[in-house]
Amino acid sequence: MQSSFKKWFGAETPLEEINFNIGMVFLFVSYAASFLSGIYMHLDYRFYFLIGIGMILMTFFIGYASQSGKYQIASFAIVTIFEVVVFPGTYIIDGRFMSFMIFYYIIVFLLIVYVQEGRLRIISYLLFCITLILSVVYTYYQLSLRGMILSSGVNIYLDILLPLIICSLFAICGTYASIRYYKTESAKAEESRKSADDVEKSKDIFLMNMSHEIRTPMNAIMSAGEIMLSKNISGDTQNNVHHITNACRALISTLDDLMIFSKSGGEIIEMQESEYDLMNLLDDIINMISVRLMDSEVRLYVYIDPYIPKRLYGDVVRIRQVFINILNNAVKYTKQGHIILRVVMSDVMTDRMVLHADVTDTGIGIKEEMLPTLFKDFSRVADNINESLKAEGSGLGLSITKNIINACGGDIKVTSEYNKGSVFSFDLPQRIADSSPIAVVENCNDLGVIICDDDTDMKEVLTDTLRAMRIKCTTVTNSEEMNSAIREGIYSHLFITAECLEGSCDLPILMGANITIVLMRNVDDPEEALGDGTIVKPLSCLNIARYFDNQTDKAKALTAESEPEEVSQDSVHVSGARALVVEDNITNLLVSEKLLTRMGFEVSTASNGTTALSLAKVMSFDILFIDFMMTGMNGIDTLREVRKLNADWAKRVPCIVLTADTHEGAKQMLINAGFDDYLAKPIDMEEMEYMVTRYLPGEKLI
Ligand code: ADP
Repeated sequence: MQSSFKKWFGAETPLEEINFNIGMVFLFVSYAASFLSGIYMHLDYRFYFLIGIGMILMTFFIGYASQSGKYQIASFAIVTIFEVVVFPGTYIIDGRFMSFMIFYYIIVFLLIVYVQEGRLRIISYLLFCITLILSVVYTYYQLSLRGMILSSGVNIYLDILLPLIICSLFAICGTYASIRYYKTESAKAEESRKSADDVEKSKDIFLMNMSHEIRTPMNAIMSAGEIMLSKNISGDTQNNVHHITNACRALISTLDDLMIFSKSGGEIIEMQESEYDLMNLLDDIINMISVRLMDSEVRLYVYIDPYIPKRLYGDVVRIRQVFINILNNAVKYTKQGHIILRVVMSDVMTDRMVLHADVTDTGIGIKEEMLPTLFKDFSRVADNINESLKAEGSGLGLSITKNIINACGGDIKVTSEYNKGSVFSFDLPQRIADSSPIAVVENCNDLGVIICDDDTDMKEVLTDTLRAMRIKCTTVTNSEEMNSAIREGIYSHLFITAECLEGSCDLPILMGANITIVLMRNVDDPEEALGDGTIVKPLSCLNIARYFDNQTDKAKALTAESEPEEVSQDSVHVSGARALVVEDNITNLLVSEKLLTRMGFEVSTASNGTTALSLAKVMSFDILFIDFMMTGMNGIDTLREVRKLNADWAKRVPCIVLTADTHEGAKQMLINAGFDDYLAKPIDMEEMEYMVTRYLPGEKLI
C-alpha cells in the first residue's frame, strides 16, 4: 500500500504523473459522491447509467496511461468524456444546478489546469465552455427541465459544501505536489551546478598549473634563443636558433588555443586590453612565418600600409594569435605558389580605427559546401581532399580565431576556390594609443628605388609598398633597362636579388654608378659580401623604413660593423639603474639577469622572497621583477613585504610581475594586488625593454 502510494505520489514520480493520479483520485471521489447523492435524492436511473459509463471509461484510460506512459492522451480522453457525455447528460437529465453541478464545473477546470498541457489544454477548455453553454441554452428552452440554483436542507451540503471541500482539497494537493516537485528539482539543479563548479574550478587550477609548468621551461629556451639572436652569430646558427624560438612560439600559440578553448568552451572570449607596439607584433609574425617557409617553395609577400598608427590599444596576445592561426593555416595548406599578407586600416577616427588584414594563398582551397562548417569547433575539412596534403591540426584554430575577432567587435570572412587557393579577411577594431605612422621615411622625397627581381608578384607588392611610402620607384627586368633607369639619375637605391646581380647585370657599370646597391636576400640565404647593404625578404614598409633610417645614421652603422663579435642590437640603454629579479627557476633567473645587464642595469638576483627582502633591506632598486608563483613566499607576498619596508624607494619602486599564467583575469588580479604591470612568460625581450622604458624614471634612460 505504502509502496503504491510512493509510486503514484512520491517525490521521485514525475510531476505529470503525480498530477494525473491526483486528478483521477478526485474524479473518482466525485463520481462516487454523485452516485450516492443521486440515490439520496432519488434521481432518474439514466443518471446512474451515465455516471457508471464515466467510471468504466475512466478506469480503462487510467490503465492505458500507466501501461503506455501517455498521460496527456489519457487525461484528454477522460476530461473529454466527462465534458461531452457525463456533464451535459447529468445536467440535462437532472435539469438543474444541483447534484454536484458546480463541483463538476470546478473539477474539470482543475483537471485541465493541473493535468493537461499545451494545445490539449486549450482544446479541453474550449470544449468545456461550449458544452456548458449548450447545456444551459438547451435547458433554458426546455422550461420543464429548469431547476433551482440552490436547494435547501441536506441538499445544500450535497450541492455546495461537499463539492467545495473536495475541490479545495484537489487544488491544495495539486499545488502542494507542484511546489514539492519544483523544490526537489531546484535542489537537484543547485547540487549539480555546485559539483559542476567544483569540477570547473579544479580543471582551471589544473590548466593554470600545466600552463605554468610548460611555459616556465619554454621561457628559458626562448629567452636564451633571443639573446643568441641579438648577437652577431653566423647565418646557419642564426637560422637554427630562429627555428628553436619559432617552434617555441608555435607551441605557446597551441597552448594558448587550448587554454582559451578549455576556459571559454568556444564561447565569446574576454579581452585583456593594453597598449602595444604594432610594428613589433607584425615583425614578429612575419619573422615566424618566413622561418616556417624556409624549406618550402612557397614565397611570402607582405604589404603593410605605412600610415597605420604605431601603437594601438587591444589584447595583443589574442591579436597575435589571430594572425598566427590564419597564417599558419596558409602555410599548412599551401605547397606551392605564394602567400600574401596585406594589412591596412579602415574607418579611421581620431581615437580608433579598424585593422584590416587579408591572407591570400595559392593552396588547396576549400570546397564551397565545406565553407559553412569552417568556423565550427573541431571542424577539419581538408581531410577529404588530397591525402598528401593532410596536415597536423586540431580543428580549433579557426573557431577560436573567429571568437577572438568577434570579441574585438570585428568579423572574419573567407572566399576560396577549390584547388586554387583561399583568402581569409578579417577586421579588428582597435583603439589608437599613438597615431604616428608605423613606417614612414623622413627624407622620402630624396629617395628613389630601382627594383630588379625575376619574381613579378614580388615586384608588384614592393612597388605598392614603396609608392605608399612616397618613395619613387621603377621595376627593371634586364641590364639594359637597369642602365637606362640608373642614367635617369633620379634613383638613389637599387633593390636587387643575388640571382639578378650575379646573372643579368653589368657589374662594372653598377660599380661605377652613383647608386646604393641593396641586396634582397631570403632569410636562409648565406650572407654575401655583394652590395652595399641587405634587406631580408619578405620586404615590407617595416624593414624598408628600418633600412633607410639606419642608413641616415651611417656613422653609427659603421661603428656597429667594426664592433667585435658581441655587439648588442638593443635599443634600450640605461645608466646608473639597479634592478632586482626574484625568480625561483635558476635558468629563467639567469636569462632575465642577462637581458637586464645588456640594457646596462646593475642587476641583483634572488631565488626566493626572503632573500629578496634581505637584499631590499640593505640596498635600493629602481625597478623590481618578481615571479608570481614561487615556492615559499609567493610574488604577491614578496611585494607586500617590500612595500612595508621603512624606505622611500620601496614604497614607490615600479614592480613588474613575471608570470606564466595567461588565465583570463590573472592580470587584473595581479594589478589589484599592487603590481604596476605584468610580463608574460616566456619573456619577450622587446616587451621587457618596453616595461623598462615605461616604468624606469626618465633620467636613468639614455
Ligand atoms: P586545423 O587545426 O585543422 O588547421 P582550423 O580550425 O585552423 O583547424 O581549420 C579548420 C579547417 O579549415 C582545416 O582543417 C582545413 O581543412 C581548413 N582550412 C583552414 N585554412 C585553410 C586554408 N588556408 N586553405 C585550405 N583549407 C584551410
